[in-house]
Amino acid sequence: MAEESMACPNCGNPQLDVDAANSVVYCQQCGFAVKVDPNTGEATPINQGRAPGSSGGVSAPLGGAGPNVFGMDKLTFLLLVTAVLLLLTFMYNLDLTIFAVIEAIAVALFFLKR
Ligand SMILES: [Zn+2]
Repeated sequence: MAEESMACPNCGNPQLDVDAANSVVYCQQCGFAVKVDPNTGEATPINQGRAPGSSGGVSAPLGGAGPNVFGMDKLTFLLLVTAVLLLLTFMYNLDLTIFAVIEAIAVALFFLKR
């Protein structure tokens, strides 16, 4: 399979990593990640990456504060946590027990932080 050679659109890092198994191209510098459909070549953004100067992995929230966690819709937050956990679990071959425990904590936080 050929290596992709494109620069990160978020931070300009020319050395993007390719996860061939999952058809994901990602940037280790800012966390930007896109999933590339091998059939259509279509790229679907998974992670926008960090904005320069921002400490979090999420772009700045628009508008005022609501019943949100870290400026995000709570369901979005839970889905994001699940997606990141899944990614980490596969990337580092984590034990599924660890995944289940962290996911359980995330779900508990989700229901507690009303
Ligand atoms: Zn980047």
